[in-house]
Amino acid sequence: MTVATELRFAFDNSFVRDLPGLFVPWRPTAVEYPELLALNEPPAAELGLDPAALRSPAGVAVLAANVLPDGAAGVAQAYAGHQFGNYVPRLGDGRALLLGELIDTSGRRRDLHFKGSGPTPFARGGDGRAAVGPMLREYIVGEGMHALGIPTTRALAVVATGQLIPRDNRWLPGAVLTRVASSHLRVGSFQYARHLGDDPSLLRRLADHAIARHYPEAAASANPYLALLSAVLEAQAALVAQWMAVGFVHGVLNTDNVTISGETIDYGPCAFLDAFDAGAVFSSIDQAGRYAFRNQPAITLWNVTRLAEVLLPLIDDDTDRALEAARGTLEPFAEKFEAHWMQLMRTKLGLATADDDPLVRAYLAVLAAAGADWTGSFRALSAWLRGTDAPLLALAHDPAPVLDWAARWRAVLPDPIAAAAAMDAVNPVYIPRNHLVEAALTAATENDLGPFHKLLDAITRPFDVRPGLEGYEYAAPPEFGRYRTFCGT
Ligand code: AMP
Ligand code: MG
Repeated sequence: MTVATELRFAFDNSFVRDLPGLFVPWRPTAVEYPELLALNEPPAAELGLDPAALRSPAGVAVLAANVLPDGAAGVAQAYAGHQFGNYVPRLGDGRALLLGELIDTSGRRRDLHFKGSGPTPFARGGDGRAAVGPMLREYIVGEGMHALGIPTTRALAVVATGQLIPRDNRWLPGAVLTRVASSHLRVGSFQYARHLGDDPSLLRRLADHAIARHYPEAAASANPYLALLSAVLEAQAALVAQWMAVGFVHGVLNTDNVTISGETIDYGPCAFLDAFDAGAVFSSIDQAGRYAFRNQPAITLWNVTRLAEVLLPLIDDDTDRALEAARGTLEPFAEKFEAHWMQLMRTKLGLATADDDPLVRAYLAVLAAAGADWTGSFRALSAWLRGTDAPLLALAHDPAPVLDWAARWRAVLPDPIAAAAAMDAVNPVYIPRNHLVEAALTAATENDLGPFHKLLDAITRPFDVRPGLEGYEYAAPPEFGRYRTFCGT
């Protein structure tokens, strides 16, 4: 007997209900030969969607953006953004569409969103399309972040369109990504609402929508809009601390890529550190290093400050009072970030209290001087505590400073073996290493999804050393060279 599979989407589209003026109703452009490349079953199940139904021709037609299911919104969202510091008043979804919102099995509201589904009125001359490689990158890096416990948007599926699209003087296979997010509200959405909204109520409606959706407790505060700002600041401070702890470089932290929810969004030119270098920059267009690894906390504050500016009229009718209140709210950012980050770093090193912070800082200096692999170093340290020296000795040409530091460190650990176990529970073995991601995407572009699925398997259980994944734990070999990433995706 065959069991009938069903594809039902119970959309409840609060964004469209609440926020006329912040979107354009739009339809995706159909493609002729869609082919499902990857379906992410865990988030599908969370959304109450049947994976078998999504794999059926009717499901693939939806995931290719060929068919908008009943009840779907189908809107291109409007937003503005500071791109590398320059304000662009009208960006918006040039190649993306919000399908609508689903309430997941835990009662959480989730956006379903297409990327690469054809040009919209925000396309600004772009083709509205996306290539297979970058959409699979978004899938795999997002899953890597999720497995590391870092808030992120997630891929539901990637479908090849069967069309070729021109990129960098080449023709590349096109793809549509279906993305799940707690929302697509960005700092840039607020900038647009304040400056280009066609009606003065839009900013307030957006702020109220964001509060209801992400920070309902702010509604009960004496000043809900200040409470919203404070909540976003807190979420972003926590997020960037987590990035720094895993060696993640986002690469394009424009205000349109900074979510109100505190989820990581847009995996275009992102990368992970191999050798620890606080100044690391990977994006080919980030020539001034604005979004360098070490600048991420400061740029996050800069981005949230842009949110504060546009919220001023909601915070207080009196501009001076509004400014003062906003400044006071932003002021604790450095302290918040530092507290989150130090907490994470102490945990990574099996340390217990703030008394150990100088030891953490000393470790960073030793690692930087050695140019040692960030991710690998923490597992090398736990192995060393258990009496396996080789990985630690292999970290640097001259391991003496590392060993020196390690001896001081071990001396403060009350129970080194327990510390090693605790460290292994938080320090990943497998992350989406740049060279592995590149190899997987190159193979996928040539129709071989094997390396993609193998890497996906590795990074979705990042803490468990497993046979068959030999080599996946290491930094790129020297011949990989200096990693460069690109925005034109
Ligand atoms: P992103 O780099 O994906 O954050 O995109 C930045 C802006 O450029 C957004 O407004 C996108 O919608 C737009 N965009 C990027 N690529 C394309 C494309 N191929 N066609 C249309 N719009 C695009
Ligand atoms: Mg973006």
